[in-house]
Amino acid sequence: MSETKQSMLTITKLSKYYGKNHVLKKVNLNVKKGEVVCIIGPSGSGKSTFLRCINLLERPSSGSIFYQDNDVLDGKWKTNEYRQHVGMVFQGYYLFPFKKVIDNITMAPRTLKNKNKAEAEVEALELLKKVGLADKDDVYPASLSGGQKQRVAIARALAMHPELLLFDEPTSALDPELVGEVLRVMKGLAEEGMTMVVVTHEMGFAREVANRVIFMEGGYIVEEGAPEEIFGNPKNERTREFLARVL
Ligand code: ADP
Ligand code: MG
Repeated sequence: MSETKQSMLTITKLSKYYGKNHVLKKVNLNVKKGEVVCIIGPSGSGKSTFLRCINLLERPSSGSIFYQDNDVLDGKWKTNEYRQHVGMVFQGYYLFPFKKVIDNITMAPRTLKNKNKAEAEVEALELLKKVGLADKDDVYPASLSGGQKQRVAIARALAMHPELLLFDEPTSALDPELVGEVLRVMKGLAEEGMTMVVVTHEMGFAREVANRVIFMEGGYIVEEGAPEEIFGNPKNERTREFLARVL
């Protein structure tokens, strides 16, 4: 019994069209509690669309998404409620520019979870400490580096106590010297047991942190497996070509 980990997310035959453009093609994915799944693949392969469908930022054209045995697409779930369980971190941070860092972090818990200000702030300060920004609570996002902004965005996502965190190329907008500080925070979360689906071009991170790596191309999951298999012995020609280009 203890061997079979609880399934957190079960996606079956998920398809998405934009007009006539078939962007996701019957994609299946099962994520278990505590798993870190990295999605790699060339630009335009549907990775962001896939994450956006998981988080209901896009409505899939067909297929199913079950979150802990609940049918997410059946209309019974309120999107806001679902997103309290499934957080997302974007390439572009999307912090509120006219709110101080601390208010960026406390806003969702206060408005969506009715947390009182003091309580939300105590927790926000703890989260800032966790992402290495203990002294940045009282500043505006504009005064932060990209790496610091992204760490605030992670703290903001964590403030909702998500059970699953989605990352869409969280380090792709960063100067190279700032990538490491963000990946370290993500690695720390993975080590604490956070369930994560991470779209990334950081192959070192995928190799080291992922339990499973998925290679997507042209709207398909072309290949998936343990990082040692995907990076060490990819079976599909397309995967091999992609890795030869990026590694
Ligand atoms: P990736 O994240 O792998 O680069 P995307 O999911 O962003 O890929 O895009 C996959 C395909 O879907 C691309 O052809 C892209 O042009 C198209 N696409 C993405 N978002 C939209 C949208 N909002 N409207 C129309 N087409 C889109
Ligand atoms: Mg993308």
